[in-house]
Amino acid sequence: MTVDFLAADAPLRDWDNHCLWHPFTPMSAWVTEQAPIISGSDGFQLIDTAGHRYLDGISSLWCNVHGHHVPEIDQAVREQLDRVAHSTLLGLASEPSIRLAKALLDRAPAGLSRVFYSDSGATTVEVALKMAYQYHRQKSPAAEDRSTFLCIGNAYHGDTLGTVSVGGIDLFHRCYRHLLFQTLTAPSPVALRVPAGHTQDSWLQHCFDEVERLLQLHHQNLAAVVMEPLVQGAAGILVHPTGYLQHVRRLCDKYDVLLIVDEVATGFGRTGSLFACEQEQVCPDFLCLAKGISGGYLPLGATLTTERIYKAFLGEPWQGRTFYHGHTYTGNALACAAGLASLKLFEERRVLENAAASAALISARLADLHQHPHVAEVRQRGLMVGIELVRDRETLTSFPVQFRLGHQVTLAARRRGVILRPLGDVIVLMPAPAMPQHLISRICDTAIECINEVVADALQRCSLGSA
Ligand SMILES: *Cc1c(COP(=O)(O)O)cnc(C)c1O
Repeated sequence: MTVDFLAADAPLRDWDNHCLWHPFTPMSAWVTEQAPIISGSDGFQLIDTAGHRYLDGISSLWCNVHGHHVPEIDQAVREQLDRVAHSTLLGLASEPSIRLAKALLDRAPAGLSRVFYSDSGATTVEVALKMAYQYHRQKSPAAEDRSTFLCIGNAYHGDTLGTVSVGGIDLFHRCYRHLLFQTLTAPSPVALRVPAGHTQDSWLQHCFDEVERLLQLHHQNLAAVVMEPLVQGAAGILVHPTGYLQHVRRLCDKYDVLLIVDEVATGFGRTGSLFACEQEQVCPDFLCLAKGISGGYLPLGATLTTERIYKAFLGEPWQGRTFYHGHTYTGNALACAAGLASLKLFEERRVLENAAASAALISARLADLHQHPHVAEVRQRGLMVGIELVRDRETLTSFPVQFRLGHQVTLAARRRGVILRPLGDVIVLMPAPAMPQHLISRICDTAIECINEVVADALQRCSLGSA
């Protein structure tokens, strides 16, 4: 018997538990937790089927920019819908994809001159990896076979196998190691926990030196260096020291290796500037954009590159120099229309100025946490914030993993009407760049309250356990 899947009184909770498999989710715990089923929105709030409202404290996984149900973006998508929802970029051009490419290049670091569309963050990095690899095989006068990439420790570039190959998050990636291509890894330049024999300064210096050593030794085999600029998001909002991105760019120039910068998370105002690269006056050879590109409305990715790369793919059609890669929904018209409306709002509403005010407010609001006995570190760059919780601040030991401490904090926040999502025991705050300051305050205050509640509870469990 078939049921009416559109019925107003459909048992959605049941269907969710029986039909869906959620991403990055331990499903046995999920089915007991009754996560809100979102059916509406109002500005920066999401509304569930029971009518409860939740402040979106993580920009719907780091992509929302101007809030939800934004009249200007809704209108732009609707107008596009009245024309055509999708047509292919294979063999046809499309109006919104052309306008958006022009708008992106006008705002991206000078030197980038070509836009290759796809439909997610992972695909933008896959595109850059394949283009870099193929570039070396086709460049003139002397083509080379350069078959590996230099990555940064604990990197995250997506979940497809190519991006997992250049990633380094053990928990997500170790299971697939035999399926991956070989890469080299430079240590992530962060110094909360440093290897024995190092001070924080000597360790950071070592990280700077190590990239150079690896490039010097292996540049003839390296197609590119791949990195997240300024902040490694999924690794736990790890903030790089000032100058690291520029250091890597200089070394790439010196050793003639291409630089792929993954701005999927940092792009579109998340670190304070439209693109994080701007803060170190860096122009990469490939700039990967997704998440915020459509204002957080629709799936869209873009890999921007230079004329030098582009030219190596030119030739007579039968010579086989073409970039043979494309996804069916590449450069989707609705997504590009949303992206154009989003860029317009950035300027009309001075969103970057708002983001700067919000970033300063967050620093002030979270200042007390720096002394908190169970906070190892508060890391922040612009609107990307990570609060790392530990059992012991001196030894940096964690609470037992069974406690799922970060997860407990987000459940406590949800009870107070705020949506957060942790990375292990790092509480992540990622408000939208356009969020007004009174809502920013509410997210910070709720996070602190929930951290205190959950930590107190965890300490009690620990003392009961040892008694
Ligand atoms: C989220 C993210 C990706 C992957 O984007 P998807 O759209 O989920 O494929 C890649 N790189 C970085 C830095 C990210 O934060």
